[in-house]
Amino acid sequence: MSIEKFNYENISVVLVNTSHPGNIGASARAMKNMGLSRLALVQPVEFPSGVAVGRAASALDILENTTVHESLPEAIADCGLVIGASARSRKIPWPVLLPEQCAEKVLQDCQRNRVALVFGREDSGLTNEELQLCHFHVQIPAAEQYSSLNLAAAVLVICYELRRCAMRMAEDRPPTDEEYWDIEKATGEQVEQFYQHLENVLVRLDFHNPDNPRQLMQRMRRMFSRIRLDSMEMNILRGILTHIEFHLDNPEPGGGKSARKRSDSNDEAIRNKQERKRKRKDFTEAAMSKRNVDTMVEILEQARSNKKNGD
Ligand code: SAH
Repeated sequence: MSIEKFNYENISVVLVNTSHPGNIGASARAMKNMGLSRLALVQPVEFPSGVAVGRAASALDILENTTVHESLPEAIADCGLVIGASARSRKIPWPVLLPEQCAEKVLQDCQRNRVALVFGREDSGLTNEELQLCHFHVQIPAAEQYSSLNLAAAVLVICYELRRCAMRMAEDRPPTDEEYWDIEKATGEQVEQFYQHLENVLVRLDFHNPDNPRQLMQRMRRMFSRIRLDSMEMNILRGILTHIEFHLDNPEPGGGKSARKRSDSNDEAIRNKQERKRKRKDFTEAAMSKRNVDTMVEILEQARSNKKNGD
């Protein structure tokens, strides 16, 4: 396998809220030196910019194809692996990689999934919220007295490690998990929709109080980041959540087994029971099929409107 066989097109460098256009140009140059080409910017202070062009030297093609985004979630919406570069450890510890470990993960993943390497602002880095959108953090083990590198220098180190790792991995080796896994990883957008859904259901279950969140959602994010669900697993979890919502919206009449027994002789109760059974069957069938979340939401909405109409 040659190092050109890696799917570099699937790897993006994402720069968040960069103040100095020179750093954007220098990052583009560093990327091209190391064989990468996809650059994305989130709310750059100045772009396009002559200064960026000057610093990019022969990496103008990268600047020309750079995409600009309103937010980090938007920039990573199609990514199955997101790694944030940070010089500092944060309040909730997250899985932290060395640059060479980061490189290995990225190269394994990029054969199937889109990958984002996210870098922060020159003055304040990435916010905790932004770091929590990442599956892993990567820290360049710089000198403790002054560990914060210039932005473009940090991009260069991470991209250099990628190239070194590609050279090592190009030698014969067995395929890794990521290469033979049958289903692609859930994308950033799917993951965000899942967290939103999870939070809504936890609130409805009175398990989660948004006024007193106690880092519950951050901890759930960290747990699911460690597991890195594929899109089928994500669909199953969404299905389970939708199922819970369905049961919250359609409580059993009389609330439980003994009440059901008492009303068994009543024709209407039997009809109700059959109707519930049929709905549950439709619902479970939808839950089992792969492209099911939309169908389930439809069924759920129909159940809600039936309920409203006294059905
Ligand atoms: N003063 C900021 C650092 C900003 S440097 C802070 O303390 O967070 C700009 C960006 O370069 C950082 O957000 C990070 O993405 C990257 N960077 C700089 N030094 C790094 C290091 N030692 N390890 C990983 N990333 C680093």
